[in-house]
Amino acid sequence: MSVTTTGRVRADSLPFAPVLARPLPSTVTPFPNETVDSYFDRLGAVNQTPGYRLRYPSDWLHCPLNDLELLEVLSGFPRTTLAWALPGLRRHAPEINTPPPPTGWDTGFVCRRCALQRSGIPHRVQVHAPGRRAPLCITHRLWTGLIPVPSEQIDLSITPEIVRAQIRLNRLSRRHPAPFLERVRDLCGGTMVQIERRGLIRNEVTWEALFEASKLPDARRPASPFDPFRMAARYPQTVRLTAMVIARVNRHLADPNADSKKTIAEEFVEQFPLDRNPRTTTGPWLNRFLVGLLNSCTAAASPPPHASQANHS
Ligand SMILES: [Zn+2]
Repeated sequence: MSVTTTGRVRADSLPFAPVLARPLPSTVTPFPNETVDSYFDRLGAVNQTPGYRLRYPSDWLHCPLNDLELLEVLSGFPRTTLAWALPGLRRHAPEINTPPPPTGWDTGFVCRRCALQRSGIPHRVQVHAPGRRAPLCITHRLWTGLIPVPSEQIDLSITPEIVRAQIRLNRLSRRHPAPFLERVRDLCGGTMVQIERRGLIRNEVTWEALFEASKLPDARRPASPFDPFRMAARYPQTVRLTAMVIARVNRHLADPNADSKKTIAEEFVEQFPLDRNPRTTTGPWLNRFLVGLLNSCTAAASPPPHASQANHS
């Protein structure tokens, strides 16, 4: 403090620390792996404020808080909860969880009905690494995998087989490490694409039925085998093949010297009756392809799944 020539008392250059963030009246629970932008947007939406305004509260005053500190104040959730749920905040708290790599993390949208249920308003919830999540919501029967617009997520009400396949995969996930299961599922998905291209088996669910039910314009009819409609239709068989291959891998790991009674091609044909007799070249191709698949999946089982899994599969 100092006294001016006019006798007034003046505060000497006290630092000005504006309070730019206060707890908001309403909060929303973050989704696992949600992006920071998505969470700001949802938090803003339930408080009738644009998300960017929460993040940058003033056009002329600098907010000294980083995103994690700011969201801690705004949302009312502890920093540990926020850093676990939102990978984008972990660089501010590496002691809580390892930050994700700066690039290579795809993003996607969670089920639109889950978003509505959790936020109370229809909103897009964007998450990192959608490929590691289930491509569909069992509760709301919506296919979300690789769909860029939540409003176009595919309604699976007419195809319970697809939902049942995910339930089966979830059961497998309780007994097998996630990286192994994801790898086998992806390899089996690729195998089913190749088999579908050769017209060897018929899908139990047709993508045409799913597409007609979606009421999307004809111009959007799926052309690529990796289109979400075609992936969804193929999913029951992808999961069935995944379960079959994992069982074989486990038998092999339990006793590498035990001869399997059937080749993988024989077992495959038993579980997936062929739509037609393969041509001279297709039969050997199928055999080689499935042996390659089995070898890749066995290699992916390192470190091997728990020994007890062999008894369950
Ligand atoms: Zn849902």
